[in-house]
Amino acid sequence: MTSHMLSTLTEAQVDRAAAVASRLGHERLPGEEFATFWARIPVTGAVDHTGLHQRPDTELGARIFFSSGGSTGIPKFTLLDHTEMLRNCAVHGRGYRSCGIGSRDTVAAWGLAGTMNSEFTMYLALAETGCCTLPLGKGEDPDSVIDLVSRFDANVLLVMPSNLAPVIARLESTGRRLESIRLVVTGGEPLYPSDEARFRKSLGNSTAFRSVFQTSDTGTIGYQCASSGPGEFHIHEELQLVELIDADVEGTGYLVTTNLERRLTTVVRQRTGDLAQALEPNCPCGDASPRIRLVGRAGKIVKFGGEKFAVNSLVHLKEELGLPLDDFEAVLGKDSAGRDQFVIGSERMSADPQLQERARQLFAAISPVVRSQIDLGVVGPLEFSGPAGGATSRTVSGKTAYFTDRRA
Ligand SMILES: [Zn+2]
Repeated sequence: MTSHMLSTLTEAQVDRAAAVASRLGHERLPGEEFATFWARIPVTGAVDHTGLHQRPDTELGARIFFSSGGSTGIPKFTLLDHTEMLRNCAVHGRGYRSCGIGSRDTVAAWGLAGTMNSEFTMYLALAETGCCTLPLGKGEDPDSVIDLVSRFDANVLLVMPSNLAPVIARLESTGRRLESIRLVVTGGEPLYPSDEARFRKSLGNSTAFRSVFQTSDTGTIGYQCASSGPGEFHIHEELQLVELIDADVEGTGYLVTTNLERRLTTVVRQRTGDLAQALEPNCPCGDASPRIRLVGRAGKIVKFGGEKFAVNSLVHLKEELGLPLDDFEAVLGKDSAGRDQFVIGSERMSADPQLQERARQLFAAISPVVRSQIDLGVVGPLEFSGPAGGATSRTVSGKTAYFTDRRA
C-alpha cells in the first residue's frame, strides 16, 4: 500500500494526529519516525457506532447521531458530542465563506433534519458567514420555493443538484427566471456540467456555481474558492489530515482522512469512498491549503435522483432475471427531461417485452425510496437498449463493469 500525505505536517499536527490515533490504541514508539508510525495504522472504512450512546461506563454529555449509507449500502451511524459538532460547523462555515457567501447575502437553504440529513448543521455553519438564512425544508413544491426566494430576495441557493432540478423544471415550464441568484453552492453529490449549463439558463447569466465537500462519517473535508474548477477542493487542513492511498499512474488514489478533533467516534485513516487526485497547492486565490480533485466514487453507492442508491441491488436484478454476466449492463444517465435514469443494456431483454415488464417491477421493488422516486417522476422510468458492452465493459481490475455512471 502506498500513501501520499497531502499536508506537510507541522509538529503540532503530528502531535494531534498521534493523540487521535492513541484513542484507538495506536501508540508511537519512542524515537519512531512519524511516517513509519502512521504507516502501521490500518486504513479502515466507515465504522458503525450504533449503541455507543448507551455505554454505561462514561458520562458522554450532549450528543447527536448522524448516519451515512456506508460503502455496502448498510447505514453506518456516527455519534458526535455537541462541542465537536459545533466545531465541525464552524470549520464548514469557513468553507461557505470561501465559496463566496457573506453578510450581505440571503441564502435559501434546502434540507430537513434527520439521521441521514444533517442539514440543520448547515444553518449553524451558515451563521459563520453572517448571512441571512432562509430555510426551505425539503422544497418539495417548486412554486413555494420560487415564491419564497422572490419574496425574500434570496441571492444564494444552498442546494443539492437533484433538489434544484424540479425548481428549474418549473421555471422552464413557466418561462420565469430567478435572475437575482448570483451564487449556487452545492454539496452531497456532484454537479455535472450539463446540469450547470441547464440551471444557468433559468438563473442569472453570471451565476457562479461552487461546492463544499463533507461526509457524515468524517465531517467537513473541503471547499471551493473562486478559482476552483469542477470537482476541485481546498482541504480544511486545521481539521483533516488527507492522504491518497494506492494512487495509480495518473495519480488517482483512494481518499483517506483523519479528523484531528473527534472525541467520541474517532476517524483515523478512514476511507471516504472517493477517488481523488492531488493538485498543486499554489491556488491563484492565495489560500495555501492542500487541494484535491474528486474524480468519482470508489464505493458501491451512487446518488440517484438525489437519494442514495446501492449499486449492488443491480446484481440482484440481474440474478432475478436470470441474465448472464456478459449480457447485463446498467447505465445511469439522463433522460430527455434531464432526470436521472437507468438504461439496462441487454440483448436478451431488448427482444423480450415480458422480461422488460418484470425488470420494471423488480427495479421499483428495490426500495420504497426508489418506488416513490419513480412514482413522483423525480427519476426517469427504467429503459432498455441493445446488447451490453460485454467483454469490453471491464474495470481496471478486470471485473465486468455491470454499472456505469455516464452523467458526468
Ligand atoms: Zn483557491
